[in-house]
Amino acid sequence: MFDALKKSFGRIADTLAEVSGAGITLDEKRINEILDDMELELLQADVAVDVLDRMRDEMVRQLSGKKVKNRKEAMDAIRDALAELLALPAPQIAPPPKKPYIILFVGPNGVGKTTTIAKIAYKLKGSGYGVVIAAADTFRAGSIEQTEEWAKRIGVRVVKHDYGADPAAVAYDAVKSATARGEEYVLIDTAGRQDTNENLMEQLKKIKRVVKPDLTIYVGEALTGNALLEQLRRYDEEIGIDGVILTKMDADTRGGSAFTVTVGAGKPLIFVGFGESPDDLKEFNAEELAGTILGQ
Ligand code: GDP
Repeated sequence: MFDALKKSFGRIADTLAEVSGAGITLDEKRINEILDDMELELLQADVAVDVLDRMRDEMVRQLSGKKVKNRKEAMDAIRDALAELLALPAPQIAPPPKKPYIILFVGPNGVGKTTTIAKIAYKLKGSGYGVVIAAADTFRAGSIEQTEEWAKRIGVRVVKHDYGADPAAVAYDAVKSATARGEEYVLIDTAGRQDTNENLMEQLKKIKRVVKPDLTIYVGEALTGNALLEQLRRYDEEIGIDGVILTKMDADTRGGSAFTVTVGAGKPLIFVGFGESPDDLKEFNAEELAGTILGQ
């Protein structure tokens, strides 16, 4: 995981320690020079240009006027800088702020939306809550069956219509039945296309109008690279995004995507997915991820 960033920041830490070891106090100019040397590597690790600028500012804030004693101290300062960039206040999922608590999941096809919804349903059910999944992806062949299979596996209810049905009607029915049964959560799965087309956006807007979700979560995959920022912004402009889940962190060798979400798009990370089993979902923790990125 995150080999590219780990290597780059390891080298930055070495250089910071070397400079300090030669008796030089770190200042803005030195720190920027060191980061200039690593810029290409960081860009190749999916760190976007504006993210890189914020990283510079944060590292200058953490390190200028200091001499680090050794590599470990340099790494700790880098970890604090990264955690600062990743930490944004995330919306609360559990306990449910209201009942039923309606969460709309959106994002491109194939990123792991259905799997992620199943993982969340599994977590919530394990905490004793009633959960219903709305199979509102009525577009992609097989999606309804996939949702049903997951729901059976983890023991939660699904509300579905036929393929081609209006997704807003599916979502509406799910909310209605959860209300009638006193269930705490409605998780709405939606269609995604690789190219975010107008028709899809109109469908998502209609779901929002009809069921007024309490939370709209963008699900994206860590492997998307630079296209992630553009996709996320588009969804945010069109329908409004409250928070983000990044999937496939286990397969990400570059590591920049979390920064794209928090610094680039200014959206909080809520969960990260790191595998294909129901348990492979973690609540996002900035310090922990910063440590993992650095191999700590
Ligand atoms: P959707 O089209 O967005 O609903 O995506 P799916 O939920 O069908 O997932 C697409 C593929 O990604 C499936 O093979 C999943 O098992 C896989 N997947 C989902 N989340 C993760 C994850 O966190 N890590 C890995 N390695 N694979 C995942």
